[in-house]
Amino acid sequence: MKLKIAIQKSGRLSEDSLRLLKECGIDINNGLNKLKTEAFNFPLEIYFLRDDDIPQYIEDGVADIGIVGENVLLEKNKQVKSVDKLGFGKCRLSLAIPKDKYYKSVRDLNGLRIATSYSNILSKFLKQNKVKAEIHEISGSVEIAPSIGLADAICDLVSSGSTLLSNGLKEVEVILKSESVLIANKKLSKEKTELLNKLLFRIKALRSAKNNKYILLNAPNNKLDAICKILPGMKSPTILPLADKGWSSVHSVVEENQFWDIIEKLKANGAQGILVVPIEKMIL
Ligand code: ATP
Ligand code: ZN
Repeated sequence: MKLKIAIQKSGRLSEDSLRLLKECGIDINNGLNKLKTEAFNFPLEIYFLRDDDIPQYIEDGVADIGIVGENVLLEKNKQVKSVDKLGFGKCRLSLAIPKDKYYKSVRDLNGLRIATSYSNILSKFLKQNKVKAEIHEISGSVEIAPSIGLADAICDLVSSGSTLLSNGLKEVEVILKSESVLIANKKLSKEKTELLNKLLFRIKALRSAKNNKYILLNAPNNKLDAICKILPGMKSPTILPLADKGWSSVHSVVEENQFWDIIEKLKANGAQGILVVPIEKMIL
């Protein structure tokens, strides 16, 4: 029995999805242009699909789990479970209009023709904001719709905003912030749930590792108390004596977001020779 995962065949999520599996220690035979492949060292079958089709396949149980953007998940509105956010494919779904057009609030969208591939999300947004506009659903190249006279505004995915800029558009509203998520069929068997949990365990270990750094430093023994108070560690810091009497080496783990703060405090408390090392996997 194998767990079946659906990932995007070719597009912005493909590379990161494959990398995630690889970092979870799963080796796959990635023959180009294949629709399906399997892992050598994990009971996993990989399906390569268009991202738009993935939620439906998961709902139907053709695949057990999948990786899609939250934007696709919300637009398709299928009966699937969102299991974990994966941190890549970050973007936003925004409204944009020609850059020289007046815009003060959502009310200015009234009466406009808006081109989008996200008609469900957009119509919900318009309803919530009591805006009456006409939605033109198109499946691609949405950003050129205003310049060819197809629409007055667009609702499309944006990351840096450079595509909007080069098409003479300005972003006026952010409807949704999105990133990739792992989704699952709602009725997975016990065995498949166990496999999914195994995978999730590995994904979490990777995430913890990325959010933390291993730190080593030297300190005079009379400063150890102060330094240990600054360093939380996974349990508590490791202290090893140096050959040089009166000095110790202190090892610990610090969170990325507190990192610079901690380094400054350590230095102020007499720490020297501070080394910071990336962590590959972290099991809590
Ligand atoms: P497919 O052929 O699979 O239907 P697609 O053209 O619909 O591909 P991509 O452009 O590859 O999709 O984008 C896949 C996902 O990547 C999006 O649904 C979104 O979640 C995410 N993404 C991140 N940044 C961007 C961006 N700047 N523009 C579009 N999508 C982005
Ligand atoms: Zn798509």
